[in-house]
Amino acid sequence: MKPAKYNFHKVAVVGRPNVGKSTLFNRILQKRKAIVEEFGPTTRDRITAIVKWSGKTFELIDTPGLNPAGGGRDRPLQRIIEKQIMFAVKEADQLIFVCDAISGILQMDYKICDMLRKADKNIILAVNKVDSGNLMQNMSNFYSLGFGEPISISSLHGLGIGDLLDKVAHNIVRANNLSDSVSRLRRLTESDRSREPIKLAIIGKPNVGKSSFVNGILGEERIAVCDIPGTTRDSIDTYFEKDRKSFVIIDTAGIRSKGKIKDAVTYFSILRTEESIKRSDVSVIILDAPLGVTKEDHRIIDIVQKNFRPFILAINKWDLAEKEGVNKIGYEKVIRENVRFMYNASIVFMSALKKTNLWEVLDLAYELAEKTKKNFSTSDLNSILKSIEFNPTKLYSIRQMKNSPPEFEVIVKSPEAISDSEKSHLVNIFRKKLKLEGVPVIIKLRKKVFKPR
Ligand code: GDP
Ligand code: GDP
Repeated sequence: MKPAKYNFHKVAVVGRPNVGKSTLFNRILQKRKAIVEEFGPTTRDRITAIVKWSGKTFELIDTPGLNPAGGGRDRPLQRIIEKQIMFAVKEADQLIFVCDAISGILQMDYKICDMLRKADKNIILAVNKVDSGNLMQNMSNFYSLGFGEPISISSLHGLGIGDLLDKVAHNIVRANNLSDSVSRLRRLTESDRSREPIKLAIIGKPNVGKSSFVNGILGEERIAVCDIPGTTRDSIDTYFEKDRKSFVIIDTAGIRSKGKIKDAVTYFSILRTEESIKRSDVSVIILDAPLGVTKEDHRIIDIVQKNFRPFILAINKWDLAEKEGVNKIGYEKVIRENVRFMYNASIVFMSALKKTNLWEVLDLAYELAEKTKKNFSTSDLNSILKSIEFNPTKLYSIRQMKNSPPEFEVIVKSPEAISDSEKSHLVNIFRKKLKLEGVPVIIKLRKKVFKPR
């Protein structure tokens, strides 16, 4: 795909064949007030044009080549549509979903709806071919698609096109306001304390209470919350501040959205979980108290540890366990015996439902993140190294290579003379001396190279 030439807000026109997408596209370009600055096929599959409307400039994208009439006859229709939607969802900031008032809603429209709903984009539903008032009575059916109030248009006769463009312009203003508020919040944080927010991954199998936890926290008064686009196309991160501490919860798209129950399994995909873990400073793994540690939980804990992220085991629904008279000390003991901890993790008992101990989890996460982001001076590290009684080989020097998680390089006489257990002993000594309890510490051994004189 060619890199974008300009960086305008992108609006894509999507819909099944024959609903009138091309007619709409051309009609917008003919509209007197819509000044077309540049126009032409940029790839075989799409045409873009720069449009000005109501003081806003945007790039309109049509995808005619993806229609069967546009040269895709050899491909099954379903695939063509999927490709069109995937392209639009990936590239565009907002979408105009075109339906046809004469034919009504067809099976394929429902399929497109399903795909669009998963995208986290502004979608305008335009019902085309409303050439006369008679067809207006069909409009109520289109509400059922779930994209709010449909806009009736007739591309052929140029009716309703202005209303449609007004809506597009309105969405651009909303999008700009959102990014303004994000940068305002960020500026505030920067001046307030020149620290980056702590990045948290809130993970766990479906139904453990992730959304109850996140909504419980964000629903509190005095919390400044702001959504920011995540790194992948359908992910949203949530930024918030409390008590001069700032946090970002990574990929809250699947956690906070209302219709998430149905999508819980999709959002629990291991790939997605791992992606969140990799982007985080600390992971909060939520467990379901009555269920104990299940196979899925073990798998998640392993992934977190393999990615060297400090983590907290938040035992949720503790209200239910408490009712049964379960004892915390005994419960924690069983967990510690059953989980293979590569490094220590804190265990917190909470109830997202009753909102007990939610902030304890976040305070602990904050502490862990501060630790994992620490930088140590080479001289401090080397004085620790000198104080260590360590055989069988000589340790020459140490320096920190990176943080979050902290990684150190130790120059030794012969790395092969150090066994795995001696190495983990070394890791433990440094973790203790540097006060990095609960933080995974990585030590890499490197052989000293003697330069010839
Ligand atoms: P696309 O495949 O979605 O790009 O659809 P086209 O723009 O090629 O239009 C498909 C057919 O619908 C053509 O015959 C158009 O003339 C017709 N059409 C498009 N817009 C309207 C409209 O507003 N009213 C009526 N009655 N027909 C329309
Ligand atoms: P998610 O799939 O991990 O986001 O889980 P939800 O937050 O949707 O919670 C799943 C179910 O567990 C819902 O019915 C919640 O009301 C319930 N739930 C969540 N937290 C608690 C809790 O602390 N105690 C009890 N008793 N139920 C809870």
